[in-house]
Amino acid sequence: MALLVSDAINAAVDFDQQLDTLEVALQVDLTESERQIETLEKQQNQLSQLQLARFHTLSSIKHLYLGEFEQALFTLDKALLFKPDNELMTQISMYKITANIGQNNYQQAFQLLEESLARIDSYDDSKIKVNAYIRLMNVYMELDAFEEMLTTATEILSLNKGENKKNECYAKLYLPVANLKLENFELSASQFKEAELYCNKHNFPLIVAMAIKGQSHVLFETGQYQASLSGYLDSLERYQAFKFHIEIHDSHAYLSEVYFHLGDYDQALTYAKLVEQLPNEPMNLKGKKRTFHVQSMIASKQGKFKEAYQYQVQAHAIGVQLLDEKKVKENAYQMVKFDSAEKTRELNKLVQDHEMIAKQRSILNNEKSASFMFSTVLAGTVALLALLLYTAWNQRNQFRKQAQVDSLTGLFNRGAGIDKAENEFIKTLASGGTFSVVVIDLDWFKKINDSFGHATGDWALKKVADTINEYKRSTDIACRLGGEEFAIFMPNTDKMLANEVAENVCQAFANINTRYSGHQFTITASIGVSDKAEEDLSLDPIINRADTALYQAKSHGRNRVVCL
Ligand code: GH3
Ligand code: MG
Ligand code: MG
Repeated sequence: MALLVSDAINAAVDFDQQLDTLEVALQVDLTESERQIETLEKQQNQLSQLQLARFHTLSSIKHLYLGEFEQALFTLDKALLFKPDNELMTQISMYKITANIGQNNYQQAFQLLEESLARIDSYDDSKIKVNAYIRLMNVYMELDAFEEMLTTATEILSLNKGENKKNECYAKLYLPVANLKLENFELSASQFKEAELYCNKHNFPLIVAMAIKGQSHVLFETGQYQASLSGYLDSLERYQAFKFHIEIHDSHAYLSEVYFHLGDYDQALTYAKLVEQLPNEPMNLKGKKRTFHVQSMIASKQGKFKEAYQYQVQAHAIGVQLLDEKKVKENAYQMVKFDSAEKTRELNKLVQDHEMIAKQRSILNNEKSASFMFSTVLAGTVALLALLLYTAWNQRNQFRKQAQVDSLTGLFNRGAGIDKAENEFIKTLASGGTFSVVVIDLDWFKKINDSFGHATGDWALKKVADTINEYKRSTDIACRLGGEEFAIFMPNTDKMLANEVAENVCQAFANINTRYSGHQFTITASIGVSDKAEEDLSLDPIINRADTALYQAKSHGRNRVVCL
């Protein structure tokens, strides 16, 4: 019996070791790791839950290397079924992000990033944080956010302090990648060299290959084609040993270009043909565009102008496709940035609220979400960016709502109100229903401000908004058009009924008890009403007519409703 237990323990230890070996193999030798995956696959029923989770996660890396993103996602979802622990969870999400980026599914990538950053925030383990930032850099790289990449790489190096060799290696590689993209060529070259030496010393041959290729990129970008050649050939050989297809194809494309610049058209075409036959998948597009261009240039130098033109057309078509993808990326990124800006604005308000509430109670300190948001104001490091990214996505919907609402009165703002009204208007156009517009401008409002101060003016605006809310029907859309002007849009309401509501509102304004503001005055408004004419195809003409009616109300002595 005792023997059996110890056997079981040995077996368990053994599998952990095998998984460790597989993880190393994935860094070094893809063929070997495929073999190990096969062996482990046959022994799956002897693996513990956590081991199974880890096994599937590691298997997914193979798919990622091969550009098989669909399979990678499938395998990662399998890993999730076996209750992975926190650290593995983070790894799984980050690989899922990578796979989604590979598929150009940025929306999903951000969603996952949000989820994992939330999780990461709950650990205070810098090891896991470093892992997460490594993946985050993939996202930044894919989004061409090179400044952020630079800060993140620097942050990783300072958090990691050389502890995790693999992550140190990655960060050392990402640093010059960012600098290359930012055209800091000299710095980039020396950092690539440093990465090569460090990663070679700690046996990460794949990253060594990338660092060597990086040095060639610097030479290529600065027009030193002859000098770049040996590095491209060297790294290609290393990638081939690893069967790292994405990098092999990319190297072929660069070699084609290098040989073209060196005037060796035969070699240039040989490599170009290798790239040309690749399927039109996202990861191949950039290389294909470059090699079509090379083929076009060579054809034209050889006087084959029709062929040159055809290659140019193909290069152009891919260029358009790439541009579309870039736009999608940029949109996703801009959306995040926009939301972050919104967030910052919102945060300022939050800070004020925080200070106020803290005086009475200290609950906000205990409330995780509040302190979390608060910390984003103070952090000022790369964490800020990552967390903003997270909070932005997390609260995107909330902002969207806030962006529609006027903060003083709580009514829709002009843009949102008119948008919503237009939607309703189109519905009534289709159904042949009626539609009325009521516009409201407070009378002598400047005087209220001048006599009692701006705060009293604000108080009055809030009261007016409350009154409008009270008198509008549930189907009406009320908004603050700006300043002391409001509108009520009334779907399926004729002019008579609209006029009646407007009269009630007008009366109610005059009855607002202003004593609670600390002053005594009367609020009145001039109101214009109009409705949809048969020829109206948008809201504009109705609003214009209501404005005219409002003007008449003003000129006929104010505090009244005029219906056009
Ligand atoms: P009239 O009867 O001709 O409309 O007179 P009025 O004083 O209302 O005319 P006008 O449109 O020139 O003045 C509007 C004033 O509303 C000017 C501005 O100071 C004030 N106002 C606009 N927005 C706000 C706000 O958010 N708060 C406060 N307190 N006052 C505002
Ligand atoms: Mg006005
Ligand atoms: Mg006014």
